[in-house]
Amino acid sequence: MALGTEGRRWKLLVAEDELVSRTLLTRLASSWGYEVIAVEDGVRALEMLEGDDPPRLAVLDWMMPGLDGVEVCRRIRDVRREPYIYLIVLTALQEREKLVEALEAGADDFLTKPVQPHELELRIRAGRRILELEEQLIEAREALRELATHDPLTRIWNRRAILEILDKEIARASRKGGTADVCVLMIDVDHFKAVNDRLGHLSGDQILTHVADRIRSGVRRHDEVGRYGGEEFLVVLSGCGEEGLRTVAERIRTGVAERPFNVGDHTIPVTISIGGARMSEGTVEGAATSLIGRADRALYAAKEAGRNRVILEGDPEVQG
Ligand SMILES: [Mg+2]
Repeated sequence: MALGTEGRRWKLLVAEDELVSRTLLTRLASSWGYEVIAVEDGVRALEMLEGDDPPRLAVLDWMMPGLDGVEVCRRIRDVRREPYIYLIVLTALQEREKLVEALEAGADDFLTKPVQPHELELRIRAGRRILELEEQLIEAREALRELATHDPLTRIWNRRAILEILDKEIARASRKGGTADVCVLMIDVDHFKAVNDRLGHLSGDQILTHVADRIRSGVRRHDEVGRYGGEEFLVVLSGCGEEGLRTVAERIRTGVAERPFNVGDHTIPVTISIGGARMSEGTVEGAATSLIGRADRALYAAKEAGRNRVILEGDPEVQG
């Protein structure tokens, strides 16, 4: 059986206009374990390859009515994309001298007809190896991207990523004319140092993870949550207005305060203080820094006023 890693069954497209050859190819590839989709012209082949969940492997006859196999290769390479589709072109002997054309069109390999079954099987297997390597590369790249943008402890955005999101939101809002609908909440865990000193850093880490989870459950679906540093979190919100901002912030605050956290054998009550700010109209340049600075001042006022509370810029507690 031509099963790939993890017993996976590969789909293989066979495009061949001659009935006898198509039947033979289908029978062979099925016997090697492939799930064969057989079509009799290039137009159908292209449809299959451009459809949802397309076969990743294709054996295309060169000479076919409608679109020939090489043209199919060209069109696939024009639009695609990931994941890669491995294309093998079948040629009659007299077409051999034009092989460069097929390769230039994006064919990965070619075979001369009449096809030797064993050779075809090995060529397809070589294609599968390429596809598997590509998949591993994509996976590795995704893992790197996750590492580069997420905080390893809490799994939320890291500082760089959340600041990038804020910049993008500001740019987007200013393109749409109004900038005032971007808001930030700066959140700090109250007395975190004391907890850390008393229970140790591992427990401190667990608390941060729980806090991040509860912040995430408190925000709206399109709000973004990041770890700004240490025990500080930054939430980027848009389209909420001042009252909306206060509502979300209060929901986050109560979400943390209403139930203590279980950490090891301890039950630890945790509270957070939140400072919030909204973007003012027409100040895109340096807006992110200013926004964070103002939210930070509001956070400081929340701490001063006794912690476990939400204070937005403009509230009386915030000193000019
Ligand atoms: Mg033909």
